[in-house]
Amino acid sequence: MAYSIALVPGDGIGPDVTAWATEVLDAVGDKYGHVFNYVELEAGGKAIDSTGEPLPTETLEAAKQCDALLLGAVGGPKWDTLPGHLRPERALLGLRSGLGVYANLRPAALLPQLKAACPLKDEVLIASNSEGRPDFDLLIVRELTGGLYFGERGRSADGNSAFDTETYSKTEIERVLRVGYAAAKLRRKKLCMVDKANVLESSRLWREVAKEIAKEYPDIETSYLYVDNCAMQLIRAPGQFDVIVTSNLFGDILSDEASVLTGSIGMLASASLAGAGGLPGGEPVMGIYEPIHGSAPDIAGQDIANPLAAILSAAMLLRYSFGLEKEAAAVEKAVNVILDQGLRTKDIAGRSGTGASEKIVGTAEMGKAVLKALENI
Ligand code: NAD
Repeated sequence: MAYSIALVPGDGIGPDVTAWATEVLDAVGDKYGHVFNYVELEAGGKAIDSTGEPLPTETLEAAKQCDALLLGAVGGPKWDTLPGHLRPERALLGLRSGLGVYANLRPAALLPQLKAACPLKDEVLIASNSEGRPDFDLLIVRELTGGLYFGERGRSADGNSAFDTETYSKTEIERVLRVGYAAAKLRRKKLCMVDKANVLESSRLWREVAKEIAKEYPDIETSYLYVDNCAMQLIRAPGQFDVIVTSNLFGDILSDEASVLTGSIGMLASASLAGAGGLPGGEPVMGIYEPIHGSAPDIAGQDIANPLAAILSAAMLLRYSFGLEKEAAAVEKAVNVILDQGLRTKDIAGRSGTGASEKIVGTAEMGKAVLKALENI
């Protein structure tokens, strides 16, 4: 089967890491009989240089014609002094709203091979893991196109006060919750809805809607937490969580907190979906897939960047936009194999939790190792 993928390598290390994500996708295509056609597009700093705007209309229109979008990262010091509406990051907001991707999925799992990278003590990890292992595996589903970041905002005439508003409709809440439930069905069947319903009216609506929707998912254990408590519980006992669903603002903060617990920014992938995707009960949908790290201009073009977050983002693309679960799992397994072999880029080196002897490698060697591991799966 043939699929079209909009490819935005972007700036800094974006091209370094997406090059390996596409190599891996092509290897998956050869192995399992799929063809992936890439439509390379400009956005971010590169687009500013060539067209004067971070998200040219042609980029968005071309992306809409594709089945999914794979993005590296955008931004860098060269464009830091531009006014807000011309900054490279505007391209991300434009792509998200233009492609209607309202549910951001950020897995944060502590891999046993990188256990020592976690700032938490073993006993904390073990105490909260139902199987008594010193690790955790959670997924944050963040609402991405509503709430405080998209609400009305402004300043008073004298400039001495400012306001931002949070508005959510029942529809916006319900659709992201359904993505959370679809994900929970595939995982450990637990969903925690996080809000601030003791104070905020918008949160009270979240909770009302969640309580209604929960009735339709009796096989999933639903719980509710206030965001301040959740922030604390993530540090105190991360193993208690499976899927967390929350609003745009809370999800932004909690997902960064969770990612730090894994200790490795170069490992973490993300998917932003326009529906429940290749999850049970959902059709494959448009999604934006990107590593959570930025463009890391300090190491761009030096064969240092860890390509695994981009490669794992490609695995999410296979799963959620194309419904290719077996292929996605094969990529994830290949990544596990090379970590077991002790291969490490600099950002994850010196952190072996298993005593495996480590070998420091560059971007290309890491990418090639994943391709080789994939051959044998
Ligand atoms: P960053 O994630 O780019 O880098 C933070 C640190 O992590 C740096 O030391 C970097 O070298 C390291 N790092 C990041 N990814 C790595 C990888 N794959 N392998 C090894 N090391 C890695 O964050 P920053 O420095 O705050 O931002 C740099 C630029 O990226 C800024 O212009 C920022 O606006 C932009 N940014 C873009 C996105 C995006 O495109 N989604 C996200 C965050 C930041």
